[in-house]
Amino acid sequence: MQQPDHLFGGTSSSASSHEVGNAAVSYFASTTQSRPLDEAVTTSTTPHDHVSPEDASEPRIKAEIETVPVRPTLPSLLQYVDHVLMRHKDQHNKPPQYAQKCTICSIQWDKAGIPSTFLALSCGHWVHYRCFIELATREGLHKGLCYTCNTPLYEWDGINTLTLAIRTDIPMWKDKTTAISPSTYALVTSDHDAYEQECGFIEKTIERRFFKQLAKTSGFAAHSPDLVQCFNDTLKDLRLMGRPTSKWLTWSTTTGLLLFGMLVAIKMQRYLTEGHGRIKQTEAWVAWEAGCRALQARILDDVHQE
Ligand SMILES: [Zn+2]
Ligand SMILES: [Zn+2]
Repeated sequence: MQQPDHLFGGTSSSASSHEVGNAAVSYFASTTQSRPLDEAVTTSTTPHDHVSPEDASEPRIKAEIETVPVRPTLPSLLQYVDHVLMRHKDQHNKPPQYAQKCTICSIQWDKAGIPSTFLALSCGHWVHYRCFIELATREGLHKGLCYTCNTPLYEWDGINTLTLAIRTDIPMWKDKTTAISPSTYALVTSDHDAYEQECGFIEKTIERRFFKQLAKTSGFAAHSPDLVQCFNDTLKDLRLMGRPTSKWLTWSTTTGLLLFGMLVAIKMQRYLTEGHGRIKQTEAWVAWEAGCRALQARILDDVHQE
């Protein structure tokens, strides 16, 4: 799995492409270019549902349809919980048979010791929500699949598990032991130490790259350091060093990758604001902030994509 060099465009960066899951994606996205990542994702992973029958008769498009392999797209775990499972909220706790059992814990849905919402997965199998979360956040073969019929339900990605844990109120335990969440009763294994260590590593890389930029001449007024380049170089360094390795920060989907980029951006923003406040008056800062907003917009687009 390769990682990003360019989550938003630097003044001297060039286009490059990497693998995200099974989709080849271009990370070069300057603020003047309109959403190239989204376009790359659309063209490489989505069936051509936007092509009308008239368009399909056009030979060039027809040839394109035949050569691009059609791969069904799966939502990320977060999208699956937010959109798919919540879409039929009115049917929650209303199984077709009164004595229906959860296909994960095999207990009659309303007889479980710890009550939990009972709902149907997209394959049609009914489960307790807490049983579903437990499988989703646990290492194992069934991650991403229905426990009963093995239908792929979503693309698992570590960084979204963190978000899911926050949304479902599963605390991140500070010790390494496996604990039971008091709110959902799901078993949660802590990755807190690895996460903290990784964050420290990211912060040190940002600092080192910032000082390298300070020593260079940039194209900005008063030679203010190129912050976008600093950000891109930081991501490149992290990739070359095989980071991130922490469970909460690794990813397998585009959303996960973009969220990791945003985490690095937030850390860099904090580092600059706290330690080098005067940089906020420079031209380079304006370009940097525009890049952050563009990245944020791409994350929102990706999360809201059905
Ligand atoms: Zn259950
Ligand atoms: Zn199923």
